[in-house]
Amino acid sequence: MLCLQRHLSHSGAIITRPLILAVANQKGGVGKTTTAVNLATSLAIAGLPVLLIDMDPQGNASTGLGVARNQRFGGTYKLLMEGSPGRETIRPTLVRNLSLIASDIDLAGAEVELVSENRREFHLKAALAGSPALSEFSVIVLDCPPGLGLLTLNALVAATGVVVPLQCEFYALEGISSLMHTIEAVRRRFNPALRLCGILLTMFDRRNSLSGLVEKDARDHFGDWVFDVSIPRNVRVSEAPSHGKPVLLYDAKSPGATAYTALGAEIINKENVVVPGHVTAHV
Ligand code: ADP
Ligand code: MG
Repeated sequence: MLCLQRHLSHSGAIITRPLILAVANQKGGVGKTTTAVNLATSLAIAGLPVLLIDMDPQGNASTGLGVARNQRFGGTYKLLMEGSPGRETIRPTLVRNLSLIASDIDLAGAEVELVSENRREFHLKAALAGSPALSEFSVIVLDCPPGLGLLTLNALVAATGVVVPLQCEFYALEGISSLMHTIEAVRRRFNPALRLCGILLTMFDRRNSLSGLVEKDARDHFGDWVFDVSIPRNVRVSEAPSHGKPVLLYDAKSPGATAYTALGAEIINKENVVVPGHVTAHV
C-alpha cells in the first residue's frame, strides 16, 4: 500500500498512513466544494495520487470536475451502502493523478437510510479500509455537504484531518465553535486519529475591510490553526466549474489558482507528506 504521510511513533520508528482530509463546515456557500476540488487538484499536480470523494448529494464537486448529472451513478451512494467500490466507481478526471468518486442521484436518500443501519457512522471508514482499489491513493479528499448529518459524520469518522473553510464575511466565526465541538466529540467517541488540519480563509477581499477584520478575529482566536495562505475572492474561481474544470486548469495564472497551489504546498509541508520523486526536509 502506498501511504505517503510519515510521522514518528512513540518508539521513534517512522510509521505511514494515507492522509484523509474532510473539507467541512456546516454552513453552505463558504467554499467547501471549491476548496475540495482545487486542493485535490493542487496535490495531484504536485505529484500525489489523489482521490476526491463527493459526499454532497448536490454533486457540485462532480459537476466541477466535468461529470454531468445524468452520468452520476455507481458513486458515493454505492460506496457507502455496498462497501468497497469496484474500479468502475473510481473515475479518472481531466487532472493527471486525480480520480473521483462522484455523488450519485441516490445519495440524498443515504442520509435517511443510514439512520437504521448498524454502525451507521462507520460506513465510509469501513468501505475505505476494505477496498484494495483505493490503496493506490496517498491522499483522499472528502467534500462534505452542508450540515452535520450522517454524511458529514461518516466523513469525519473516516478522516485523519479536517480542513475548515471560513468565508470572510460577517458572522463568519459563528458556527465555528459548534463545528469544533463536533470535531472534538467525533474524536472522543469514534475516531481518535481525527485532527484539525487547519482553518482556511476563503473569498478574501483585500479591498473590503471586513475581510481584514475576519482574518484578525480568526488568527486571534485560532492562531496557528489558520493556514498562512488565504484564498482571494476571484471571478476565475467561480467561472471554472461551469467549464467542468478546477481553476488550476481553467486559468492556472489566476490569483485563485496560485492560492490553491500554495495551500497544497502548505498542507504537504504541515502534514509531512512525502511526494514521490521529491526529497523533503521533513523525513
Ligand atoms: P460550499 O461547498 O461550501 O457550499 P462553494 O465552494 O460551492 O461552497 O462556493 C459557494 C459559491 O462561492 C460558489 O458559487 C463558488 O463558485 C463561489 N466561490 C467559492 N470560492 C470563491 C472564490 N475564491 N472567489 C470567488 N467565488 C468563489
Ligand atoms: Mg459544496
